[in-house]
Amino acid sequence: LIPDLIYTQNISAKWLRDNEVSLDVLRLDEMHPIVSGNKWFKLKYYLQQAIDEGKNTVATFGGAYSNHIIATAYACKEAGLKSIGFIRGEPAEKLSSTLYQAEKSGMQLIYVSREKYTQKQQIIDEYSKENWYIINEGGYGILGAKGAAEILDYVAENDYTHILASVGTATMLAGLVMGAEQHQQIIGISSMKGNTSLEQAVKDLLSQTKTYPSYSILHNYHFGGYAKHPKALIAFITETWRQFQLPLDIVYTSKLFFAIIDLVNKNYFLPGSKLLMIHSGGLQGNNSLPQNPLALS
Ligand SMILES: *Cc1c(COP(=O)(O)O)cnc(C)c1O
Repeated sequence: LIPDLIYTQNISAKWLRDNEVSLDVLRLDEMHPIVSGNKWFKLKYYLQQAIDEGKNTVATFGGAYSNHIIATAYACKEAGLKSIGFIRGEPAEKLSSTLYQAEKSGMQLIYVSREKYTQKQQIIDEYSKENWYIINEGGYGILGAKGAAEILDYVAENDYTHILASVGTATMLAGLVMGAEQHQQIIGISSMKGNTSLEQAVKDLLSQTKTYPSYSILHNYHFGGYAKHPKALIAFITETWRQFQLPLDIVYTSKLFFAIIDLVNKNYFLPGSKLLMIHSGGLQGNNSLPQNPLALS
């Protein structure tokens, strides 16, 4: 897991030139083929704290295709910690590629019914042992944001006017707000349909006494909802790969890149704007499709 592998990719396209806007993509997906970029940053300080507190096991929550689950499994193995994943729903007949890889990294999977899954504290009370360290679903929390705040340290020359990133729990967004320059504007694209609690989720991770750069979350690029991937989105992923050799995942980064094109074309950004898109990884999730849209001949 080597952050040194991170680089920015410049996107050259007519829709950018016509609107006098530039776009670079921070390729966190290139850090590792399985552990998606932002998850490595988000996990860093949790695992540090687990080790500092003398814990030997990390437990967390996620679905069968969760980038967070697989990243936790792998990062724990690297850190010499045991890992346990509470997985939402019943075990499928065939293990998802995500869970297969998580198990291969030594994670113990415990399936909990969808109903029980909503009662996280109950699950913790029932299973947790003294030497366990619990990480929230999706890595939501202040230490997660603290790690994500370091993402921008990997930008060679941070002279961007806007930073754009996809939003799940909003932990990364909070981190970017913490790590950005005062004059920069941070825009989050929600992968979920109508999850308006995200604004509060960001606020809860930020200090009340500091002034931050301005940020916003856009809610109209969800393509039907979380993890929904209609044909149009799959076609968009294939086309983006063909045109720019930019690989996108079905849950997060495809919706983000789509939103950027749409916003540029709608003159959302003033001429002269310099955009940075955070490619937060997640490409392993495409393995859940019958055919990976990036597997072009
Ligand atoms: C988890 C994830 C996100 C969302 O990050 P949050 O901090 O939960 O908002 C975005 N992109 C990818 C690829 C992810 O795996």
